[in-house]
Amino acid sequence: MTFDIITIFPNIFRSYFNESIIKRAQEKKLVKINIHNLRDYTIDKHKKVDDRPYGGGPGMILMVEPIFKAVTALKKRTAKSEQRTVNKRQKVILFSPKGKKFNQQMAQKFSKLDQLIIICGRYEGVDERVAKHIADEEISIGDYVLTGGELPAMVVVDAVARLIPEVIKKDSLKEESFGLIADSRKQKAAIAEYPQYTRPENFRGWRVPKTLLSGHHRKIKEWRESKRS
Ligand code: SAH
Repeated sequence: MTFDIITIFPNIFRSYFNESIIKRAQEKKLVKINIHNLRDYTIDKHKKVDDRPYGGGPGMILMVEPIFKAVTALKKRTAKSEQRTVNKRQKVILFSPKGKKFNQQMAQKFSKLDQLIIICGRYEGVDERVAKHIADEEISIGDYVLTGGELPAMVVVDAVARLIPEVIKKDSLKEESFGLIADSRKQKAAIAEYPQYTRPENFRGWRVPKTLLSGHHRKIKEWRESKRS
């Protein structure tokens, strides 16, 4: 799966994507993360990406034209490099506090795509025509306002990448928080993981629950089920 991130601050991403699981996933070629500088898609010599809002008001708004050029180029580029233009599972998302709230189900859906193009807003936001005509979905990572879409992009790439086969062990995904499991009425339910402990058994009198030390698999399973919420 390819992630194409469009940003005016490409350096923000380097350290996070070059550590741990996400780094290994790229080395193993399970995911490809490309960071694109929006300024490379500008048309004037000053590489202008933002302008003042029509109707007045504070701050600057990211312009529609460079974003349109970037998204169009990235859609084509991948199609060409993969020698296929049809049946490509592509999605373009725009980050915005008013967007649909990101959750684990969305992460699961995105993990089945071939290409996710991510547009990071900045300053006062993005020209509304991007949401209307260019992005397939507007996404928020929570009800608070950040300075830009770069942290949300890292959140989404991280949550989606770990669901791609072989990025992490399948067993780790099986009983996780928010995973879809069949409950007793055979319905799908989103639930939290059970509490976990590791060594030592006793730290300052704070003890690991006895059942977990018993080696009794059925009892451990029951205990864990009872602790899911
Ligand atoms: N003036 C806007 C906020 C702009 S914040 C408003 O009142 O809604 C600048 C950029 O940061 C946004 O365009 C968006 O891309 C990103 N951003 C800020 N908060 C976010 C959030 N909770 N979820 C996703 N993106 C966010």
